[in-house]
Amino acid sequence: MIPLHSNILSKKGKFCKGSSNWPAKVIGLTGGIASGKSTVGRMLSEQNFPVIYTDKLAKEVVEPGKPALEELVKAFGREILRSNGTLDRRRMLEMILTDASTRQLIENIIHPYVFKRMDQILQQLAASGNNVVIVEVPLLFEAGWQDFFDYVITVVAPEPICTKRLAERKKMSIDMASRWMAIQISQEVKAKRSDYVVHNNAGLDELQIKVNDLAKVLKHLDSKTSGNQGKK
Ligand code: ATP
Repeated sequence: MIPLHSNILSKKGKFCKGSSNWPAKVIGLTGGIASGKSTVGRMLSEQNFPVIYTDKLAKEVVEPGKPALEELVKAFGREILRSNGTLDRRRMLEMILTDASTRQLIENIIHPYVFKRMDQILQQLAASGNNVVIVEVPLLFEAGWQDFFDYVITVVAPEPICTKRLAERKKMSIDMASRWMAIQISQEVKAKRSDYVVHNNAGLDELQIKVNDLAKVLKHLDSKTSGNQGKK
């Protein structure tokens, strides 16, 4: 792993606790694939909580010309690129699903860049007076990022529904969707390791009610931390 931020990456390449220039409370939002994380994130942003989506950052850091893409090409060759020079995501996914060590290598290349962008955005949000910020991190526990966050919220949904949603959204077979889900830590374990669990097991109206309750908890945190910015 490349020490982009020596103050953030430890010698073992593991991430350390976040910067003191972050908002007073940084909340990690995670869950299984297609469990409804982004929907919960959107509902929270509608309640005026800033939300950072790390999957968007992960796409940005591998755009053509960016150093993470160059490192991926160095590691895996130009065959991971499409003819227009962009990353062939489907191919990467197949590589990730086929071989755990390849997956580890890809993550070791991409995650530090994602972390660096997240860190910059968190510092900007803190500087503009935000006390409570949500960060959606799909693979939060898998990446070992749990220690960065003051609280972790996990969205849990019935697995057959997630598999079906995933297969439909990504236009892939149920088999491939199940393989993708199987390489992640189970929803049950993620829920146990979290501070707050949102059970997304009914319709969107029911989910909205649950997110409204969650927003009340977060607003309480916000009022407690006002004037206490940057101190954890
Ligand atoms: P990914 O892991 O792919 O990023 P995600 O966990 O962020 O997915 P969403 O994108 O929020 O999941 O939801 C997946 C799909 O399921 C979306 O089309 C969303 O509208 C739908 N969805 C989420 N929750 C519900 C619900 N309770 N009822 C109906 N549809 C839902």
